[in-house]
This record gives sequence, structure tokens and C-alpha cells, in this order.
Amino acid sequence: MLLAEQRRLLCEYGRRAAETGLVVGTAGNLSVRAGDLVAVTPSGVPLDRLEPEACPVVDVAGHLVEGALRPSSETPMHLAVYASGDAGAVVHTHSVFGAVVAATMTELPPIHYTVLLLGGPVRVAEYATYGTPELAANVRAALEGGRRAALLASHGGVTLGDDLAGAFEATRLLEWLCEVYVRARAVGEPRVLTGEQLAAVAHRAFNPPTFPTRED
Ligand SMILES: [Zn+2]
Repeated sequence: MLLAEQRRLLCEYGRRAAETGLVVGTAGNLSVRAGDLVAVTPSGVPLDRLEPEACPVVDVAGHLVEGALRPSSETPMHLAVYASGDAGAVVHTHSVFGAVVAATMTELPPIHYTVLLLGGPVRVAEYATYGTPELAANVRAALEGGRRAALLASHGGVTLGDDLAGAFEATRLLEWLCEVYVRARAVGEPRVLTGEQLAAVAHRAFNPPTFPTRED
């Protein structure tokens, strides 16, 4: 079986996505890249009921290489993400708070500094019908400039990572940030971090403070 380990990981993280409430039913899809091949979740199968053999393998041009089931309808979006960078895995969900922000905003305002872990303020990709090359192109545009996450207008969210663990954690962080934003709006007008404040956070992350030793 081609990409056996990658297909096993799709099942593991598919189950986790369902268990943590990030996906409902057959919504959401995941993929992992290995060279010019991509293992992707199949169309129409709930993510908590996947089997490795049921996960199709396609090449980066979108040709089916192995598998009896149809690749996820969002495979063009996954392939567009791989084509535009060095991602090793992609996760797409219709998580609740991500969908709320995606239905109402053009960008998730940076009200918490951890948004920098996603490459900066998360853009909302322009609406297009699910599964179309237009949606794939809109997502690709929203990820420009090294973003690791995007929201899809009136649809959901997508994240990428070096591997599936990284892409999955990015999806969890994206959902957390969206939830914090939505809940903050219920309390008052959230403070939006300035570009200067975000730059200071990035500077500190790359230049962590050193601690003097007792002998100093
Ligand atoms: Zn979707």
C-alpha cells in the first residue's frame, strides 16, 4: 500500500478532529504530502470512521494513483496549497467559531498575539462554490505572505503545517482564536493589536530573554 503511514495518520487525526468537535458528519477533510504524492481523506466518509485503505492517493497534479473511493471534493484546494509552498499537510474543517467569523468578517482581527503562530492576521478567502478551482485560487490568495491559516467565506477554515500534527494544531489554534474573538465581541469591543505590537512579539519570540546564572 502506497503511503501506508500517511494514510494511517489521516485516520488518527480524522478521529481526533471528530472527537474534539472540529468536524460534524462528513464535513472536513485532511491530506498529507510525501514527495509528489498526496494521501487525502475520501469523499462521503465520516472522519471518525476512516480506514487507511479507504484513503485515496493522488499525485500533485490531481491524478488518482491508488484507492477505490473518490478523493475529497476539496482535493483541488489541498493541491493548490501544496503548489504554493512547502506544506506537508493540510486540514480543512467547518468548525463552529471559524464558520461564524467566516460568515461575517473579511479578516479575523488580531486581538491575541498567538495569531502570529498562524503567520499573522487570518484572511477570509472570497466566497466560491465548494470544491471548485475558484475556491482553491481564492484560498491560495488568502494564504499569500506565509500565512498558515485562512478562513473560507460562509464555509469554514483551512490550515497547513509541516506535518499533520502541525496542521491539526494550527486548526485547533484557529478555532480557539475565532472563539476568543466571538466571545470578546459579546463582552465589548475587543482591542486589536497594532502592527507595532505584533512586530514586538515577533521580535521577542526570535530573541528570547536570557537568564543570568547564580555565579553572575
Ligand atoms: Zn468544506
